Amino acid sequence: MYRLSDGYSRKIDYLRVSVTDRCNLRCSYCMPPQGIKLHHKDKLLTLEETKRAVAILSDMGISKVRLTGGEPLLRENILILAEGIKNIEKIEDISLTTNGMLLKKYAKNLYRLGIRRLNISIDSLNQEKYRTITRGSRLDSVLQAVDDSIGMGFGPIKINTVITPLFDLEDAARFMNMAESMPVHIRFIEMMPVPGTNNIECSINTAPSSPPGIAIRDIISFMNPLGYKPLEEQLGFGPAVYYKKEGDKGSIGFIENRRDTCSYCNRIRLTCRGTLKTCLFSSEELDIKKDLQNSDDAAVQEKIAAFIKSKPLDRDCSSRGRPHLFESMNRIGG
Ligand code: SAM
Ligand code: SF4
Repeated sequence: MYRLSDGYSRKIDYLRVSVTDRCNLRCSYCMPPQGIKLHHKDKLLTLEETKRAVAILSDMGISKVRLTGGEPLLRENILILAEGIKNIEKIEDISLTTNGMLLKKYAKNLYRLGIRRLNISIDSLNQEKYRTITRGSRLDSVLQAVDDSIGMGFGPIKINTVITPLFDLEDAARFMNMAESMPVHIRFIEMMPVPGTNNIECSINTAPSSPPGIAIRDIISFMNPLGYKPLEEQLGFGPAVYYKKEGDKGSIGFIENRRDTCSYCNRIRLTCRGTLKTCLFSSEELDIKKDLQNSDDAAVQEKIAAFIKSKPLDRDCSSRGRPHLFESMNRIGG
C-alpha cells in the first residue's frame, strides 16, 4: 500500500474536493461580476467518479477531506456524495467550506452525516460592505446560518474573512467582538491575486506599496495592546496562526500568502473536472477523469503517486515575483 508523501518527504493526508465551480454569490475578489465561464456539466466528475477518486486516495493515505467549490451546497446530490465519502473506511474527517447561503436547508443532514467542522465565509460584519463584496447578498442570512450551526452543535466553526480593500479596523473590531462572545474562529485571509479580478496584494511582508485598506500587520498591531496571546493548541490542519484573549469563546487567526508555510503543507486538491493539483499556486495538474472511468485502482494509484512526487517545495514566485493563482478559487476549490 502507498503512504502518500511528496518528493520532499511531506506526508500528504488532506484532500480538498471542489464539487462544483458554480456559485450563488459573486464575491468581488473571487470572480468578475458576470461570473466566469463554467465547465459544461458533462465535464464535471460524476458523484461516483468523485467517490472513487477519494476512495483510491484514501488507500494511499488521505484521511481528511474538505468539500468546497464554487459553492459546494449547490452541487446536486451533495448529501449523497458526502455520505459516500463519509462511508469510506479510511476517511476520518470530512468538513465543508461554504458561503452559508444554503446552510439552513442542509445543516440537519450534514450534521446527521457526522460533519462537524464548518468554514463559513463572511468578509464583513457591516451589511453594506458585505452586500458590496458579495455583489448583492444579505449578511443576516449568513449570520443566521452561523447561529443555527452553533445551536446544532457544529464545531469548530471557522469564519473565513478575506481582507479586501474595503476592510478597515472597524471591521476587525467587529470580528473580534464576535470571537469574544461566540465560539467561532475568525481567519483573516490575505487576498490572493486572481485572473479576471482587480485583486491587490495585501501582504504583510512583500506588498510593494501601501495597498488600499489595511494589512494583517495593522490588525495585529491593533490587537497587541488588547491582551491577545497565541493559541498553543493546533486548530485544524491548515496554515492559520490563532490568538485569543482571556475569556473569549472563540479566537482570531491569520492566513498569509507566505512561502514559509509550504514546508509543512499536507494537502492536495481534486478539482470538479477531475484534475489533481498539488499546490494552489501551481499550474500543473494531473487529469484523472478518464482513469477513473477506465483504469483499475493500482494503475490510478501509480499515476497519482508519481504526480505527488512533483509537488513543488513552495509556492511559485518565479513569474510575477509573488505567488499568484492561475485561475479563480471557485474553480480550483479554495
Ligand atoms: N463558496 C464557498 C465559500 O466562499 O466559502 C467555498 C469556495 S471559496 C472559493 C473558498 C474560500 O476561498 C472562501 O473562504 C473565499 O473567501 C476564499 N477565496 C476566494 N478567492 C480568494 C482570493 N482571491 N484570495 C483569498 N481567498 C479567496
Ligand atoms: Fe462564490 Fe465562494 Fe467565490 Fe464567493 S468566494 S464567489 S461564495 S466561490
